[in-house]
Amino acid sequence: MCDDHDAAPFSAAEADAVRALWQDLGLPGLIDVHTHFMPRRVMDKVWAYFDSAGPMLGREWPITYRAEEDERVETLRRFGLRAFSSMIYPHKPQMAQWLNEWGTQFAAAHPDCLHTATFYPEDGAAEYTAAAVEAGARVFKSHIQVGAYSPLDPLLDGVWGVIDDAGVPVVIHCGSGPAPGEFTGPGRIETLLARFPTLPLIVAHMGTPEYTEFLDLAERYPNVRLDTTMSFTDFSERDAPFPPAELGRVRDLGDKILFGSDFPNIPYGYAHALDACVRLDLGDDWLRGVLHDNAAALFDIA
Ligand SMILES: [Zn+2]
Repeated sequence: MCDDHDAAPFSAAEADAVRALWQDLGLPGLIDVHTHFMPRRVMDKVWAYFDSAGPMLGREWPITYRAEEDERVETLRRFGLRAFSSMIYPHKPQMAQWLNEWGTQFAAAHPDCLHTATFYPEDGAAEYTAAAVEAGARVFKSHIQVGAYSPLDPLLDGVWGVIDDAGVPVVIHCGSGPAPGEFTGPGRIETLLARFPTLPLIVAHMGTPEYTEFLDLAERYPNVRLDTTMSFTDFSERDAPFPPAELGRVRDLGDKILFGSDFPNIPYGYAHALDACVRLDLGDDWLRGVLHDNAAALFDIA
């Protein structure tokens, strides 16, 4: 379906290949719930980390879409994205609120970006999380590995309460891939959900590599979803192959699975991320849900 996925990044041929894929499905475009836009100096630091193949990555990680912010936004628009996100996340205290201010401005300047906010276990977190909801945040990002905090930290109790009440989904990187963190893995998320059974979590990367355990949680809890970010790609399959025996559950949970890419910080082209979903061969209805319709419903994108 997407036979041109080796087209050069930022090329017209690449954009044509991406557009052909969703047009063939009869979709009005794509929605990508997991893209990274962040303040320049934070993005520069992230890229330097990826360039160093640091221990949180575990391997070489060339960034395909390194470019100025405007060019990155324009690239997504040429792909036909109807909505994307600006996944921001703090790795230390007293950073989240500043990131949230940036996220508010970025969303105001880019109406196709889902207004994204974040949080960290610290005094005042519940208050600034409530303020972010009030300011119109439509999605939150929590990075358990990079943030190196427990989702059960008592300083987050109020945060989860605010988010649960507001029903604003949280894209949460809580699986132990690409390298485990002190607090990653399904156990703490299971405990969190036992306390907040309606919490809207979007488990990033299909929960890589704890796919089975996170699928269990998506089956058990009504508002637990998964994003496909980097999953099923050649890159992920090498180190953390998705168990073929679980594909039936991926099909059955189709309305809880959302396409995500990790753009721009991916070591392959965007079309490959899409093709990785297509080649699962779970049917065009499944694909339409994952690539667009599920997120359109969740985020009320007409
Ligand atoms: Zn990401």
